[in-house]
Amino acid sequence: SLSDRLQATMKKIRGRGKVSENDVKQMMREIRLALLEADVNFKVVKTFIKKVQERAVGQEIMKSLTPGQQIIKVVQEELTELMGGEQTKLNFSLKPPTVLLFVGLQGAGKTTSAAKLANHIRKNNNKKPLMIAADIYRPAAIKQLQTLGSQLNIPVFSLGDQVNPVDIVRQGMDQARADHNDLVIIDTAGRLHIDEGLMNELEQIKEVSHPDEVFLVVDAMTGQDAVNVARAFNDRLDITGVIMTKLDGDTRGGAALSIRSVTGKPIKFVGMGEKMDALEPFHPDRMASRILGMGDVLSLIEKAQATIDEEKARDMQQKLLSVSFTLDDFLEQIGQVRTMGPLEDLLAMMPGANKFKGMKNMQIDEKKIDQTEAIIRSMTSHEKTEPEIINASRKKRIALGSGTSVADVNRLLKQFKDMKKMMKQFMGKAKGKKRNPFNL
Ligand code: GDP
Ligand code: MG
Repeated sequence: SLSDRLQATMKKIRGRGKVSENDVKQMMREIRLALLEADVNFKVVKTFIKKVQERAVGQEIMKSLTPGQQIIKVVQEELTELMGGEQTKLNFSLKPPTVLLFVGLQGAGKTTSAAKLANHIRKNNNKKPLMIAADIYRPAAIKQLQTLGSQLNIPVFSLGDQVNPVDIVRQGMDQARADHNDLVIIDTAGRLHIDEGLMNELEQIKEVSHPDEVFLVVDAMTGQDAVNVARAFNDRLDITGVIMTKLDGDTRGGAALSIRSVTGKPIKFVGMGEKMDALEPFHPDRMASRILGMGDVLSLIEKAQATIDEEKARDMQQKLLSVSFTLDDFLEQIGQVRTMGPLEDLLAMMPGANKFKGMKNMQIDEKKIDQTEAIIRSMTSHEKTEPEIINASRKKRIALGSGTSVADVNRLLKQFKDMKKMMKQFMGKAKGKKRNPFNL
């Protein structure tokens, strides 16, 4: 992958005290290859390399960084710039409803992303969404949106598949106004390829719905094709942003790097999985860091904050950092981790997480949570803060009190100990990263 390739290059230059102009050239060659191999548009690569080279040779020497580190910093900054620099915000209408139109090829992830974003905006911006089902061609497309709608408890407007999509959208807009929905999300049909009939239909839908955002949904797995598709849709529909899906898969990542400079339009959200909460605002700087293998601690913290309330998140962070948490915290932790999604997903976001072997042992067995809770509740507060004191007779008492066995108590204590150890390792790494963000 792009990351692997770039990381290998970075490793070669890490820690070098001195970098000659020849070294820079060599590095640029490797970075150039890495980008081309990752399917980044060749013009984009050319401009990118030129910029990095100019800055690297021009030298903005900082005392705290070695030349090798400086080049990595320049690469990170330029990658960020390439993806648009700043994170771009959603465009809300001053006169409700705000209308978001979803377009893209078949299978790109329009319907899934439409529902994810409706859910995301409802939660974060306190909106009352209505989704319009305007894909009358794909079998079961309407049903798919309705299923997601009822799962999320978001209403779906549909007129079946015998009415013209433009009319469906027109009537859906009327319905939204009548029901005081301040957010309208329009899911449209796709085709396997760019097609004149589809473009015509989408132009008409755009005309009757006056969208505040026209989101092109592209599949990151399609690489350079995604960029061509983006260009074609942008030419006809003047899109306002891109939602890139399936970044959780084994993508080469090149598309994320070229789309902005080819279309001039930003990536606004990324899809990171099939589940309804697997949609994230796109942060160019974090993406650049992720590509360079610096992990994504910020995303992790943000995810924690969205799920838990902010104060609790800060508290948890502090406890994680100091590794001072007790069995009571452990219990709370389990609950919180559960609401944030599988532990493995979270671990994957930590810097250097791929280096952790035996992560499977850390998996929390959801079925055992009640039992865990019972065991911890049967402990005295002294035992909870200092589990080392739990000897054989205490174990017996705890097992009896919680309706479990001594083996269960032992298992829990071991799990707690392992988790604590793992977090210590993690936070050691994360803290190290903060001081030295260039993975050197
Ligand atoms: P549409 O034809 O553009 O409406 O595409 P769908 O929304 O029906 O999605 C096509 C397939 O891609 C479905 O199986 C989705 O679950 C899957 N999908 C969508 N977004 C993502 C994503 O971010 N990650 C993964 N892994 N799968 C996704
Ligand atoms: Mg669809």
